[in-house]
Amino acid sequence: MTLENDRFLLSGGIDPLQLVAEFACPLYVYESAVIKRQYDRITSAFSVPRLKINYACKANTNLTIMRLLQGWGSGLDTVSIQELKLGLEAGFAPQDIIYTPNCVSLEEISEAVSMGVRINIDNISILEQFGHLFPAVPVCIRINPHIMAGGNSKISVGHIDSKFGISIHQLPHILKIVKALNLQIEGIHMHTGSDILNAESFLQAAEILLNCAREFPDLDYVDFGSGFRVPYKPGGIATDIEDFGERLSERFKEFCQEYGRDLMLMFEPGKFLVSEAGNFFVRCNVVKTTPATAFVGVDSGLNHLIRPMMYDAYHHITNISNPAGKMRIYTVVGYICETDTFGANRQLSEVREGDVLCLHNAGAYCFSMASNYNSRYRPAEVLVHEGQAYLIRQRETMEDIRRNQLDVFAEVGTQV
Ligand SMILES: *Cc1c(COP(=O)(O)O)cnc(C)c1O
Repeated sequence: MTLENDRFLLSGGIDPLQLVAEFACPLYVYESAVIKRQYDRITSAFSVPRLKINYACKANTNLTIMRLLQGWGSGLDTVSIQELKLGLEAGFAPQDIIYTPNCVSLEEISEAVSMGVRINIDNISILEQFGHLFPAVPVCIRINPHIMAGGNSKISVGHIDSKFGISIHQLPHILKIVKALNLQIEGIHMHTGSDILNAESFLQAAEILLNCAREFPDLDYVDFGSGFRVPYKPGGIATDIEDFGERLSERFKEFCQEYGRDLMLMFEPGKFLVSEAGNFFVRCNVVKTTPATAFVGVDSGLNHLIRPMMYDAYHHITNISNPAGKMRIYTVVGYICETDTFGANRQLSEVREGDVLCLHNAGAYCFSMASNYNSRYRPAEVLVHEGQAYLIRQRETMEDIRRNQLDVFAEVGTQV
């Protein structure tokens, strides 16, 4: 979304206030042009003979968005059997889906095997059991290189007491199992968490993974996971993907030469592809002034966008109904009966009751983490694509809230 002559416009010149008038607030709106821009950036940043980008769909599992990415040539990274099934429905071929679960049952992994997707294992005990059950199925191993990525402690997954991956220090044990069971290791993987601090620590982790890859002669791919940063604030820090791509590509080509074969270079970005494409529109119900603070209370809350309350994440907020208004300081809060703050002490152009605010960067980990807390409906989602707006998810209704509840004493009444 851009601001032109004091008016916010979505790509294709679409007026967000018109979308809100048509579909009502709260409303998620995604711009396919932004997802495409990010997909093109990442695919052209790496100059290697074989590159595959697997969209990490836990960021946003809307079928229409997954289908768009599939059409552009993306693969899919999934973390649950349900994501995997959605991916197949969105048109991904099984071999273009990688399944990277953590702490799931062997039954779930077996189901994924039966669907023909690529399997990524992050636990020694599972690797061993997998080898006995499926001796002929090639598999990928998730290594934890123990490099601290940046970001909030809740999203950094590479550190020493993280539950993710098999520790690089256990490589000798992995090799024993691989040899004893004659496992076919087709891939080696790491994912150190979201919001990597800098290219240096990523390259350091990559070096550890490549060292490890040398031990496996039959690899088809090396998967470096994700963790690319996007700016959440105007002027905020972002991964310089072009610079990083150049440096890692050089190193990877060198490695492949040494290895004797062109391996596939894989990444699995979520946030990088879809975060900036999302805008979450909410309406101001009340402006409430207390002795200390001017609150803007909106028709949504942590039930629809939990990142600020869960990770202290910053989402930029603008008043799209009054872009030219005088700047004032507000704390924007939700309607949930909990502390429910979207943004504290923010500068917004003057907010009047009824104004529409936008929470930016709402494409990743926003709707996909939404809940029905306080028995509220989850919002509708709209995709702006080539100058047209498409409703891609209906707002929920009372029926959705009621679904699956069994009011078992309704017949007997309250006399039980
Ligand atoms: C969540 C996740 C990703 C995506 O991370 P982003 O920071 O959104 O790019 C990639 N790989 C795995 C295994 C994940 O769990």
